[in-house]
Amino acid sequence: MRYFIQIVLLSFCFATVSAQEAPQRSFDPEKDLHATPKLVVGVVVDQMRYDYITRFWNHFGDDGFKRLVSEGFNLRNNHFNYIPTYTGPGHASIYTGTSPQTHGIIGNNWYDKFDKEYVYCVEDSTIDPVGTEDEAGKMSPHRLITTTVADENRLHTQMRGKTIGIALKDRGAVLPAGHTASAAYWFHGQDEGRWITSSFYTKQLPQWVQKFNASGKADSYLKPWTTLSDINTYIESGTDINNFEGGFKGKADTGFPYDLKSLKEQNGGYDILKATPYGNSLTADFAIAALDGEQLGQDADTDFLTVSFSSTDYVGHNFGVNSKEVQDTYVRLDRDLGKLLKALDQKVGEGNYTLFLTSDHGGVQVPAYLETVGIPSGYFEWDKLKKELNNFLSSKFQKDNLVENISNNQIFFNYDEVLKMDISSEELQQEIMHFLLQYENISRVFTRSQLQSASFSEKIASAVDNGFNQKRSGDVAIILDPSVISYSRTGSTHGSGNNYDTHAPLIFFGKGIKAGNSLERTEIVDIAPTISALLGIPFPNGATGRPLYMVFAR
Ligand SMILES: [Zn+2]
Repeated sequence: MRYFIQIVLLSFCFATVSAQEAPQRSFDPEKDLHATPKLVVGVVVDQMRYDYITRFWNHFGDDGFKRLVSEGFNLRNNHFNYIPTYTGPGHASIYTGTSPQTHGIIGNNWYDKFDKEYVYCVEDSTIDPVGTEDEAGKMSPHRLITTTVADENRLHTQMRGKTIGIALKDRGAVLPAGHTASAAYWFHGQDEGRWITSSFYTKQLPQWVQKFNASGKADSYLKPWTTLSDINTYIESGTDINNFEGGFKGKADTGFPYDLKSLKEQNGGYDILKATPYGNSLTADFAIAALDGEQLGQDADTDFLTVSFSSTDYVGHNFGVNSKEVQDTYVRLDRDLGKLLKALDQKVGEGNYTLFLTSDHGGVQVPAYLETVGIPSGYFEWDKLKKELNNFLSSKFQKDNLVENISNNQIFFNYDEVLKMDISSEELQQEIMHFLLQYENISRVFTRSQLQSASFSEKIASAVDNGFNQKRSGDVAIILDPSVISYSRTGSTHGSGNNYDTHAPLIFFGKGIKAGNSLERTEIVDIAPTISALLGIPFPNGATGRPLYMVFAR
């Protein structure tokens, strides 16, 4: 009720203000050129579907999601505009304002056809780990081709405005913070349980990070995972124990509670925290410590804090989007968000910061569950396809090594062999396309020639186009039927261009932002240009999105 009244009052105020002031309002550089929040906070919730806001609404408190939605601007029809919808491309696209076609992060991992090996999006063999001896510390944004909005803020402020990136996942911390970041921190589990970084940013962990690591916070979360509210009130998710969940090693069923202390050894040591809502709580604690530790939002130059909550993704992969575990993870995240907002109010000041919340991709309902309720869905075996495709090619061309790699739904040709043949690459693409279109559960096929010679406006085709990087991508792109995935029969995954993977929350909140909501379609690449316009700084150098002016207070 409180929020209903606030929304009504706020809409009334804004209606009055614009009706009275708009005609005679004079140019005001502070409001018309830019707003200058002391801090921009980007919050990414890993694997958050838009419908989690509505589905779990009745379980949220007043200080988290409900506060963002009622006081901020809620874009209810926001989508990823490219394929594949994974964490690396997601974080890169949010902060660069463009898609993999331009920023170059075409997957979490991809086949590098020049070096003929798989690469991980943020691995960097040329640098050293900091805060650990482990290889997990050798990460940097060197494969990201364009700037992030945080980079542009650094350039604009002569490097006085700081950028700090934080996430349990390295790629969730490194890619948003960009090339000029003051620092990015991620979590190393196993037997260490510490926040770490790399020599790309600094030679040693700052005092405040060392202090946090020594504080015993991570250990304090090795406790039983029970539901925050009575599990019988969680009527928005499936039964607690069912056939569509993975679960933890060392526990026979997938029912609450989970005793993390006793499950720890068999589930990666401190890495078990990542796969529970407590990983998000630890992230919020660390982000709040960074506000003090890095003195964020304390001077005239706008700082950037990018926080990604990764645990939601691990829980979704393990238990599926319809599970009690996912529901409890969001109910608890809501409390962590409330805690973070309160800390920002206290340390930076209410009205002094601008925050946005979005996700890096959605997630599919477990196909094995969909099958039981009669919805078309299924599982796809890439190894089987690879074998049958090679059989086809060897009977047609008497060659069995024309395909060098199949990954991220793309086929990479072996050009050493293709160039020796009588037919062109284009003809080979056509032959493979005809073969694939007869294959069960493949719905669409796009060839390199098509993607290089045309641009597309239809949804799936343009998503393939936006995800296709001419240098890094393969030669044939494959689209599977909706709700057909390549995954275990338990848990959810993501990666497609279908609505369950593309529809992501997007809420702007705080300084320079009005209260409201819209069902107009917006895209993930619009976020960075919107923040650039708000701050009056250059757009990221490859940005293709547009500023969402409807969210601005004036
Ligand atoms: Zn994932």
